[in-house]
Amino acid sequence: RADTAMYRIKKGGKAGVSIFRIEDQQAELDMRQALQGGELEMHFQPIVEGEYGNALAYEALLRWNHPTRGSVSPVEAIEAAEKAGLIEQVDLWVLREACMAQHVLRPAQRIHVNITVKSLRDPYFVEQAMNVFLETGCSPNKIEIELNETTQRLDASHILPQLLRLRELGVTFSLDDLGSPSSSGIGLLQELPVSTLKIDRILSQNAQSNRISRAMIRGVVAMAKELDLSVIAEGVETDEQYRLLLTLGCVHMQGYYFSRPKPLGRLRSESVRMKHAACAR
Ligand code: C2E
Ligand code: MG
Ligand code: MG
Ligand code: MG
Repeated sequence: RADTAMYRIKKGGKAGVSIFRIEDQQAELDMRQALQGGELEMHFQPIVEGEYGNALAYEALLRWNHPTRGSVSPVEAIEAAEKAGLIEQVDLWVLREACMAQHVLRPAQRIHVNITVKSLRDPYFVEQAMNVFLETGCSPNKIEIELNETTQRLDASHILPQLLRLRELGVTFSLDDLGSPSSSGIGLLQELPVSTLKIDRILSQNAQSNRISRAMIRGVVAMAKELDLSVIAEGVETDEQYRLLLTLGCVHMQGYYFSRPKPLGRLRSESVRMKHAACAR
């Protein structure tokens, strides 16, 4: 990748001050094209109530259909948007898509969206999010923002004022990826106004073979009960994982076992519950 990592001196800028990478320019071009050219798409994955398999909510997940590279992972897409200085635009696009999808789903169902720390640091992002709620007519209490550390640490002091303003509107927050190596973990609970704990798929999937994972899941469930928070176990792929998680006290789950993330159109035509019932037999 040495070719794309070359440095160039910006015309008219002082050497060593206004340098920027050709790679970043390419990321910007690509991401602008993606936003304007309809290359971005949202998929939705149900969050189900384990015992009955009803969809309580959906998580919105970004998909990028790149014209030459094919499908690009959302983590890479988000990194490209950050490099390109377009992350707030992408996060707002994601929020708008989620708000529009909410109308189509049953009124009781809420949508979870992943929003980057970078956007949440900016008070202006909150203003723009408010506009999205007004424009789409989506009530903010139908939206839950998932907080994760995929690209940056959750620095409570910088994002807290914005989270509190969003919470006043009715938006709720999840702490994503609990138990994954990239997560700072439960310490964040002291600092951030979260109402849901999401157990990372690493724990859901290791629970059968690893007693530490099982202990961590039980611990998260007990803590959530005491603090009146919800828990969602992510990445449930098999019947064994599903049954074990139920016995560990997880009621809300998400994973390929129930449904893969899908475009909205395909979601409505299928009943999650029926698929789940067929799996469980
Ligand atoms: P995440 O928020 O923890 O999302 C869950 C990831 O697990 C998704 O990957 C989902 O497709 C995948 N998944 C769901 N069920 C299963 C399962 O049973 N097994 C396995 N192996 N995986 C499962 P995806 O869509 O590739 O997204 C990866 C990460 O990228 C997300 O992790 C999130 O951190 C980030 N991301 C995705 N969409 C967005 C977005 O719209 N905005 C932002 N800022 N970040 C996003
Ligand atoms: Mg998430
Ligand atoms: Mg997660
Ligand atoms: Mg994750």
